[in-house]
Amino acid sequence: MLLTCPKCKTKNFLDPYPFWNFKGKTKCAGCGTVWRLETAAGRCTSGPEAADGQPDLLPGFAEKPDYTAITGPGLTRAAPRARKDSVCRPIPIQRNVRGQIVSGRPLKKDELVGSRPRFIAEAIAAPAASTPKGARGTV
Ligand SMILES: [Zn+2]
Repeated sequence: MLLTCPKCKTKNFLDPYPFWNFKGKTKCAGCGTVWRLETAAGRCTSGPEAADGQPDLLPGFAEKPDYTAITGPGLTRAAPRARKDSVCRPIPIQRNVRGQIVSGRPLKKDELVGSRPRFIAEAIAAPAASTPKGARGTV
């Protein structure tokens, strides 16, 4: 989306993702005027009208009418970057008490009744109360 500043004619490029459904203020990178606008599904539904205060979100890129780029802190937003820790970190392998690899948390000794986990042992002891009707059928 494009916000051409009514004051200085600077073209402010508004990133589609954060500005797709947006209601708030942005700032012209050319003259610093704060504009209030409202968008829905990528189209401007209200504004831009001049506002005061701090902008909620800066444009991703801007250029002057003579096509020279305007970038920098406080003028445009930094490009989004991948988070360091959330990706490419191996999931630790966990083993149960028998040494087999399990997908969930390994059971502790007090969660076992004999060799079975407690929730299975209790389901076998009282099948009518713990299993939904018709889940096992009648034998
Ligand atoms: Zn401007």
